[in-house]
Amino acid sequence: MTDTSTSAASATTASLAPNTPRRFYRGGERILAFRGIDVAPDFDGFRPEDWIGSTARLFAEGGGGGTVLDDGVDLAQAFATDGAGWFGEAHVARFGGNPNLLTKLLDSGERLPVHSHPSREFAAAHLDCDNGKTEAWIVLVAEPGATVWVGFREGLSDAELEDLVDAQDDRLLAALNPITVTAGDAVLVPAGQPHAIGEGVLILELQEPTDFSVMLEHSRFGLELDHAFLGLERSLALQSVDHGPVSQARIDSLRRRWIDVEGAGPALPEEASAYFRAEVVRPMTGDVTVSAAYAAVVVVDGRGTFTSHDGTRDVRAGDVLLVPHSAGDVTVSGAVTLIRCMPPAP
Ligand SMILES: [Zn+2]
Repeated sequence: MTDTSTSAASATTASLAPNTPRRFYRGGERILAFRGIDVAPDFDGFRPEDWIGSTARLFAEGGGGGTVLDDGVDLAQAFATDGAGWFGEAHVARFGGNPNLLTKLLDSGERLPVHSHPSREFAAAHLDCDNGKTEAWIVLVAEPGATVWVGFREGLSDAELEDLVDAQDDRLLAALNPITVTAGDAVLVPAGQPHAIGEGVLILELQEPTDFSVMLEHSRFGLELDHAFLGLERSLALQSVDHGPVSQARIDSLRRRWIDVEGAGPALPEEASAYFRAEVVRPMTGDVTVSAAYAAVVVVDGRGTFTSHDGTRDVRAGDVLLVPHSAGDVTVSGAVTLIRCMPPAP
């Protein structure tokens, strides 16, 4: 059914319900708690990701993931109807009429497998796509001692990496830099770096809009080899993986404390801005006004008001808004913290 009613005709700020495609790993209860939703009796425990403002599709596992607006309009159709309204002319001129960004909430009910994502260069050469997948994690909730892992501590030869992948044992995770995280942390994960997310964190994740993953660890999660290596020869897929070493100083350069922002400021290191922007908005000493931009807005703490050309609305922790460029400058008031997830500046 195609809906061409006026609600789809022009961009307007939308409140987004959870969009949680089934995945191969456990999680999702922290997403429901954050969103203020009771766990349904038939909750299957495999809804660990909430895809926000998504026109992307899962690489496997059924291909779901696209956002549908409350009025039943597919978001991709809404974008096609008014790209300039949603994104602004400059963005459309550079990136086309799509967000060029995928935003998710992710709740790790178990440790995720060690995996990596290809770079833009690798994706263009071997996957017929201009986007790779640099990603970033903004930690909203973390159980005590929660850990993530990024990059091989020691450099590996091709043969050493192949041996680790063949073995499918604990040495793969043990070869990575562990990072203990708490709520308020942010970590940038450049494309190519192997990584894993430990059990017990709720993160807001920004990514280039693809679902290309090289699943270095796959057997314990029952993943098909074709899925694990993007349908490529294993040796070619492993060329997309950074063999290390990644130093502690490099790890430190990828980290930021987003919770320290007062007023408005970046949640992520400057290096992220070629791929996406995450801006913390946190009125401390009065209202904060930020300039017009397409943004997936996640209210992460407190409650307040959010005012744009589309009107004023009360917002509270767990709310997610999709805000078009045409909504103009935004003013935020109250004891509230929100994060605006945005594409790179055009
Ligand atoms: Zn990843």
